[in-house]
Amino acid sequence: MAKTKKERKPKVKKYKSQKWKLYELGDTIKRKNKSCPKCGEGVFMAHHHDRDNCGKCGYTEFRRK
Ligand SMILES: [Zn+2]
Repeated sequence: MAKTKKERKPKVKKYKSQKWKLYELGDTIKRKNKSCPKCGEGVFMAHHHDRDNCGKCGYTEFRRK
């Protein structure tokens, strides 16, 4: 007799979306990432070590230290 495995271990869902990391919860919602000046509010720029880059329009803003 072959046993069929009916019991499956419930997989722990990992949140792929980490958009919540863009926000800091406090008295007011702070945006950690800059929003694109070209695309406007709501379009966040990707955070790089020396620059911010908008994936939508390609706008890049270099940051000075
Ligand atoms: Zn943009």
